[in-house]
Amino acid sequence: MTFDDQEYLNRYPFIERVLISSEEIQKRIRQLGNEISNDYKDSTPIFVCILKGAYPFLADLTRCVSVDHEVDFMAVSSYDGGTQSTGVVKIEKDLKSNITNRDVILVEDIIDTGLTIDNLMELLQTRNPRSIRVASLLDKKPARTKEVPLHYVGFEIPKEFVIGYGLDYDEKYRNLPFIGIMKG
Ligand code: 5GP
Repeated sequence: MTFDDQEYLNRYPFIERVLISSEEIQKRIRQLGNEISNDYKDSTPIFVCILKGAYPFLADLTRCVSVDHEVDFMAVSSYDGGTQSTGVVKIEKDLKSNITNRDVILVEDIIDTGLTIDNLMELLQTRNPRSIRVASLLDKKPARTKEVPLHYVGFEIPKEFVIGYGLDYDEKYRNLPFIGIMKG
């Protein structure tokens, strides 16, 4: 944990603990950036940031990528048939880029049930990209109901509600530099 992480903990007493420190996040992102740079040597991929939660991850990840690339943004919401998310996505903000014949890297904050990313991939496949891969900072594997191929994963985490580094509680705390768990 860094001094900054501790400062935030002092300021926000409702955070129970730091699950992944800012140092660990930045170290892992550097590794992922190297991996992606090696994998896309002969391509100019488009990183598609899924708003809102993935914005810090996109910013830090792309600064660790040494190959030419573009970025674009997309916002989706799940149609909710009740208390359970169906995962059927509605596009709130679409891409500006044409992804036909392009290598696309979807950048996500967290994969939980997997329904949202599965539906989004299905939707984007209809635009005939050359490839689509997913980069997710967090993988909440025990919550998965739909198997989805994740190419770049920062950390696997347990089935806990987490905040920070883009992830919100009631639209707040996205600014925390670490991933934290709130007091129950
Ligand atoms: P999925 O369709 O995979 O269940 O939904 C993924 C989305 O649910 C994420 O993009 C995120 O917005 C939200 N989500 C899932 N788990 C958490 C969590 O632990 N904390 C927060 N803040 N959002 C979560």
